[in-house]
Amino acid sequence: MFEVQNQPPPLEPYNLFTSDAVLRDAVRREGANWAARELTDLGATLGKPETVQLGFDANRFSPQLRTLDRYGHRLDEVEFHPAWHRLLEIALEAGLHSSPWANPKPGAHVARAAGTYMLGQIESGVYCPLAMTYGSVPTLRHAPQIADEWLPRIYSREYDRRFRPARLKTSALVGMGMTENQGGSDLRTNVTRAQPSADGSFRLYGHKWFMSAPMCDAFLVLAQAPNGLSCFLMPRWTPDGERNAILILRLKDKLGNRSNASSEVEFHGAYAQLVGEEGRGIPTIIEMGNYTRLDCCIGSSALMRQAVAQAIHHARHRIAFQKKLIDQPLMTNVLADLALESEAATVLTIWLARAYDENNDAALAIRRIVTPAAKFWICKRTPSLTYEAMEVLGGSGYIEDSIMPRLYREAPVNSIWEGSGNVMCLDVLRALERTPNAAEVLRRELGEAKDARIKTVVERIEKRLAARDYADESQARTLVRDLIVALQGSLLIRRAPSNVSDAFCASRLDGEGAPVFGLLPRGLDTRGITERAGPAN
Ligand SMILES: Cc1cc2nc3c(=O)[nH]c(=O)nc-3n(C[C@H](O)[C@H](O)[C@H](O)COP(=O)(O)OP(=O)(O)OC[C@H]3O[C@@H](n4cnc5c(N)ncnc54)[C@H](O)[C@@H]3O)c2cc1C
Repeated sequence: MFEVQNQPPPLEPYNLFTSDAVLRDAVRREGANWAARELTDLGATLGKPETVQLGFDANRFSPQLRTLDRYGHRLDEVEFHPAWHRLLEIALEAGLHSSPWANPKPGAHVARAAGTYMLGQIESGVYCPLAMTYGSVPTLRHAPQIADEWLPRIYSREYDRRFRPARLKTSALVGMGMTENQGGSDLRTNVTRAQPSADGSFRLYGHKWFMSAPMCDAFLVLAQAPNGLSCFLMPRWTPDGERNAILILRLKDKLGNRSNASSEVEFHGAYAQLVGEEGRGIPTIIEMGNYTRLDCCIGSSALMRQAVAQAIHHARHRIAFQKKLIDQPLMTNVLADLALESEAATVLTIWLARAYDENNDAALAIRRIVTPAAKFWICKRTPSLTYEAMEVLGGSGYIEDSIMPRLYREAPVNSIWEGSGNVMCLDVLRALERTPNAAEVLRRELGEAKDARIKTVVERIEKRLAARDYADESQARTLVRDLIVALQGSLLIRRAPSNVSDAFCASRLDGEGAPVFGLLPRGLDTRGITERAGPAN
């Protein structure tokens, strides 16, 4: 056998919290330093080789649908690899599905965002049921009786993998079913019917084209009731202990997100309870959407962070042409550029999570406008970043033994679900038009940087707004891009070392947007930026 040479050691064990300067600073600044101990423990657990392996196993052994038992009785169950369950156990123990609701306190959403950001780096599929459960709570509160019954289960940190009625379990997870085959963006086209029963509950007849994590204990579902499109909670088991009439037709064969099951389902008179006012289904369920959209920002920032950490780790060890890759000037340009994108995404995301911890008018306006805007931009940047980071590893980056192909395959999904890119940009236009003081709040936030470079971009945005560009849908992506890049610049000027903010402003504020990474101009501290982003193990 030849001797194996010049191969980097694996980046494990490592602590995903203590070795991430950007995350640590963001948690402290945005009011969650009280959670540092817990996050340090979680960061250590996630960075252990055995936890990293769980992510690989959960994706390699993908979920299997069992429609019928051997005698032909309906089962409609999905079987997951034990690694999937262990990852959910770790996540629930850390409260990543509901801690800000179970233990509300200043910084609670920020602390949870930091935890899910770390989990998403190791395995993203399990994030789906966690995000939906987290987002379901404000919607469930529209139905106090249902909330009284379900929230204590949702708040529990003891994961229970058993498929049985929720009242017999230690905890519960909640999914959602909105998308039907004739339309997912325009939910008004939903045709699933909800028929009232004498006991005040409803029976649902119809289908959903996408319903992820079908082994959740209940789902928030949209259906047409006699008074219009309404929101319902549909449990997997009826109150009398029967399997609810939810037929799982098949599991989607997905590009990525393969550890998670996404199903097509039919409802044949499925038991459900009304949540919120009949006929107000979209506004009721859309509250959940704000939180799951925040989670898309967190999830995509996490993918970027993991890709950058792996790339820098590799470049620190691998030698080509007698020098470590990290010492090759052109590679340092690429790595620094990737690190800038990742830091800008993380800083923006954790700052946005803070707006969910606050309830003043400014925070509400920021949630309303910046959530869809950040989702659009961060999620759009992730595929190109994961691709470029993969290339840093050369041929090995393309091979399934490394995490890079998984990161790359996972990268597009956060832009597609929970409102696709265009839909997010159109939502920003709507929010700018309808949210009182929205433009003023943004202007104030951007102006906080007191920096001439930001001022120029703000003037450009203001010109667009004054010309009522926000009424021109064809320009929505340009406006949202400008808004988010300016916000990232303004946040970095106030929150990051000047080598980072200078490089970000020099490379991104001109509104052009670099077609590939590694085009940073001369004279920037690319080495310093790369070192700051490098993980330590
Ligand atoms: C892996 C995965 C899991 C999913 N899990 C779930 C789930 O658990 N529950 C659930 O309810 N859904 C789920 N979805 C569905 C997802 O939310 C929808 O696919 C998404 O909302 C888009 O809907 P659509 O597929 O019907 O596309 P369409 O609505 O047909 O949109 C197609 C494209 O047109 C664009 N578009 C739409 N309207 C406009 C407009 N006015 N102007 C310009 N462009 C426009 C969209 O941005 C999109 O790019 C999942 C999807 C995926 C991929």
